[in-house]
Parts: sequence; structure tokens; C-alpha cells
Amino acid sequence: MNRDELLTRLADVRGVMFDIDGCLVISDGPSGKGGRALPGAPEAIDLVRRTGRSMAVFTNGSMQTPHQIAESLRSLDLDVRDEEVLTPAVVAAETMQILHPGRPLLVFGGPGVQHDFLTRGLDVVDLDRALTGEPTNAAAVVIGWDVEFGRNKLQIAAEAVLAGAPIYCTSDARSFASEHRLNVGVSGFIAAGLSHVTQRPYRVLGKPSPEAFEVLTRRLQVAPEQMLIIGDDLTLECAMARRGGALGALVTTGTHSAADAKQAPPEHQPDLVLSGLGELLELLTATPQRTPSRLG
Ligand SMILES: [Mg+2]
Repeated sequence: MNRDELLTRLADVRGVMFDIDGCLVISDGPSGKGGRALPGAPEAIDLVRRTGRSMAVFTNGSMQTPHQIAESLRSLDLDVRDEEVLTPAVVAAETMQILHPGRPLLVFGGPGVQHDFLTRGLDVVDLDRALTGEPTNAAAVVIGWDVEFGRNKLQIAAEAVLAGAPIYCTSDARSFASEHRLNVGVSGFIAAGLSHVTQRPYRVLGKPSPEAFEVLTRRLQVAPEQMLIIGDDLTLECAMARRGGALGALVTTGTHSAADAKQAPPEHQPDLVLSGLGELLELLTATPQRTPSRLG
């Protein structure tokens, strides 16, 4: 895409998704916890709002609830509303609601995972009772950020899977972008272990899954070609944009560099590479909007 084409595509953008870690914020904890806002992030969010575009922020972390994430972003002067925060737990809850309505679900994870199931009124299996040996009859097993997953939970999860429940995982990221030290992932570690024990595959619901893109589309209320997806990971945000038909931007303030983008396979290629959100701000300011929203 040449610069003119790019500016035309940007002028058509009606909804923007920002990744959190390595894009809006850099920190040593998941979902921007304890971090600092990256240069240009507050201004980029303000511009999206001022121009009447819809917005979402999407982290692959499932440690915190959308409200907790929004609070921590607001404490860094990032104007993000609770309902604009997407996590794989949100995707998992909305997807289970569609795939297994009214059926019991075995859900592993702390409040960041459970919250989205409980607020939607989904039938979450009581783990204390399941751990005493009560049959779960679970229709699906959902693995999230569960730092207390040990042998007893593995036992009931494996029994449900061997009885036919599919395994879903919020994210199988090995680690998250961080400033000083390795920030290891937990959910994928558990899902891979459960898959090993049961010899059944697991399905990831966080970015870049089609389920994640579907939930994002419903939240932004725009057609894919009117959507801009920005993140620091070619295999997550850029891959999701490419597959879904949205405009994809890599920011080189986190995991991947411009050199990485050059070497990326076609399915992970971004449409544009930005040194940071400050550069996005310049591009969006230079391109007045053209078309009204197609949906919503
Ligand atoms: Mg990131």
C-alpha cells in the first residue's frame, strides 16, 4: 500500500482498537499494571474520541477485570471507559454464551476470568463442590489466569475433557511485553499441560482468534474495512487485522521491531509500521475523515 492509499484507508477508519502492553503502556505486569503510558498514548485516545470514532482496548491478559484494567489505565491519564476494555475472558464468556447456552462451564482463573461469566449469568461450576468429587457435567473447560492450578484442579478438568468437554484457553502467550524482566504467561502453560494429559487439543480465544475479532466487531460497531487495529505483536494484533480484513498497524514500542515486520510472513504483515502512537497521531491529523460509519 503506498502512502496515498494508506491515507485514504485511514480517513475511512471509524473504529480503533489499541493493544495495551507495549502499545498504550509499558510495564512489568500484565495489562499495564504498575506501568507508565507510552508517548502519544493519551493524545491518540483523545483524538479518536474527538473525531467520533469508536474505541476498544484489548489485552490478552485475564488477570484483571475490565473495570480494574480501565481504572489502572485512567490512573495513567488514559481516558478509557470500563465498557471499552476487552479481555480474552470477555471473549470466552460471550463465545460460551453462544456455543453452550445454559450449560455448566468449568472455568479456571481468578476474578479477572470469573467476573465476565458471572455478570452474564452463565452457569459456572462450583469448584469447591467439584473438588469434593461431585460430577461437573461441564459442557466446556475454560482455562484462564489461574495461579492456583494444581493437581486437584487438573484431575477434574481432565475428567471433564475426557467426558467430551472441549478445552478453551484465554491466551497461550509464553510471556507478555515488559520493561525489565520476563513476564511469564500462565494460561497457556495450564492449557498445554491439560492437553498433554488428555491428548485433546485446546483452542485459544484471545487475540488473534476469529472469536476475538467477532467480539471486537460487535463492540466497535463498524465494518472490518473501517477498523484500525494497533499493537506491538505481529502474531497477535497484525495477524488478527490481516485475517479479519481490518487495517493493521505495528507499533515498535514493544515486542516486534520494523525489521521483524519486514521478515514477517504475509499473514502477519502490518499495513503500516509506526515508531509509536505519536506517529499515528500525526497520520490521523493529516487525514480528515471521509465516510460515515457503516454499522451502528
Ligand atoms: Mg502487546
